[in-house]
Amino acid sequence: MARSWVSRSIEALSELVWRPPCGLCDRPATTQGFCTNCDRKLQGTLLPRDRAWSLAIADRPLLAYGLYDGALKRAIAALKYGGQTRLARPLGHTLGRLWLEPEPAGAIGAAVQRAKRLDPVVIPIPLHENRQRQRGFNQAELLAESFCDVTGLRLLRSGLRRVRDTEAQFALNRGDRAANLRDAFAIGPALLREPPQRVLLLDDIYTSGATVQAAIAGLRAAGWSVAAVAVVARSAREIAPAPKRRDS
Ligand SMILES: [Zn+2]
Repeated sequence: MARSWVSRSIEALSELVWRPPCGLCDRPATTQGFCTNCDRKLQGTLLPRDRAWSLAIADRPLLAYGLYDGALKRAIAALKYGGQTRLARPLGHTLGRLWLEPEPAGAIGAAVQRAKRLDPVVIPIPLHENRQRQRGFNQAELLAESFCDVTGLRLLRSGLRRVRDTEAQFALNRGDRAANLRDAFAIGPALLREPPQRVLLLDDIYTSGATVQAAIAGLRAAGWSVAAVAVVARSAREIAPAPKRRDS
């Protein structure tokens, strides 16, 4: 009897102090969800301010935490496919802090300033309901929640609906991606009662821009416009500036 009381107490105590291990390895995690080693690797993927911002579709500012590679790529995979939803918090918070940082210099900075002044509402890129049912959550929505916690921007979680169940984009080339996504998005029913506003689209990854382009079209059809885009990772291959050629 006394023994079971003791073991129960130990169990209760260990539950209090137990924390799930790092999202990327088996080491003990800090409150951020990663171990100090993986956290350092993730910090290493953070883009400097002048590269975190770029201009994407029709010169809209695009904010990215980092490039889709290394520890950041593994963190997104753990969140999306490993079901480690707690990782959305540190990633979304960091993205939010980047939004609040001073703008970079030059033309990009001016475009970012204009977008921020519009005080956009945040709409996460939705999954089709079939995919969402399978996965049990939408990673973009979880990221947007944490992003909005930090930035104070308003979250419209069902602002968009994915009306077509599009096949996996990664198997397609650039032209086919755009065709595959045509008419894939429509404005969410909740937004029909609101006057059109400026939007910040939020997603986990930006690759060819085809998804964002389709979401912009879906919003535009209802009179809403997209002021900026924020993603955790953007493809290193498709929109990073070409490296300067060295004369030697
Ligand atoms: Zn780790």
